[in-house]
Amino acid sequence: MAAGTPILRTRGLRKDYGKGEGLVRAVDEVDLDVGAGETVAIMGPSGCGKSTLLHLLGGLDRPSGGEVLLNDRRIDNLGEKALARIRRTDVSYVFQSFHLMEELTAVENVELPALLAGRSPRAARRRAEQLLDQLGLAGRSRFLPSALSGGQRQRVAVARALSNEPLVVLADEPTGNLDSAATLDVLRLFEELHGYGQTLIIVTHDARIAATADRMFSMRDGAFVDETRLTGGTTGMLGALAGLED
Ligand code: ADP
Ligand code: MG
Repeated sequence: MAAGTPILRTRGLRKDYGKGEGLVRAVDEVDLDVGAGETVAIMGPSGCGKSTLLHLLGGLDRPSGGEVLLNDRRIDNLGEKALARIRRTDVSYVFQSFHLMEELTAVENVELPALLAGRSPRAARRRAEQLLDQLGLAGRSRFLPSALSGGQRQRVAVARALSNEPLVVLADEPTGNLDSAATLDVLRLFEELHGYGQTLIIVTHDARIAATADRMFSMRDGAFVDETRLTGGTTGMLGALAGLED
């Protein structure tokens, strides 16, 4: 699916840390338009501002300047309560280190955001079981994270991210802690989500993951320095890469 109506936009987005001599401009005047159903990949060296940018997009952190618009509504200037609500229901996160609750089972982890958003326990559980089933984890739903492989944990984290049917899923190096086989697993999962029309923004060092995107941005020193539109869809690119793997 090509870029649909814009769902997430930034204008002149900026984030500074420190001040005076020690000032670091982690995000430097970023203008981004992400269409509904689009998958966008962001690549760049360590320290170039990728995580900071995702934090700003997801309302986890506030910009020093500029705007973030979700569905044409500014979110950068919202109060803490409204922002928390957006983090619960509209935008969700997948982290490199999964961030699962170790004392909760897979299904309990997945249903947690729905419960926090006020869904009934039954509805939350039903949706969580469904998601785990779709992600190939039906037999693992009563397992604790410690009993799952890295790839399975990341799939649980993705299921959790989908729990409240978010407008946008942000993923920060989601395969950074995974071996090659698990990376391919997660890659297929993102492709599938893309196919379903889920809007995705993925920060990655993995060219195979980036190749699943509609567009890829290269980031340096807080700014986008290059944009690649991955024409021909993902299958061509992936086909080529899969060929290299074998
Ligand atoms: P990336 O995710 O691309 O590795 P980050 O967004 O984590 O980059 O960091 C961008 C820059 O901002 C780096 O120079 C980093 O040291 C700095 N930075 C990130 N978070 C903070 C913070 N909380 N306080 C001060 N500096 C920070
Ligand atoms: Mg980072």
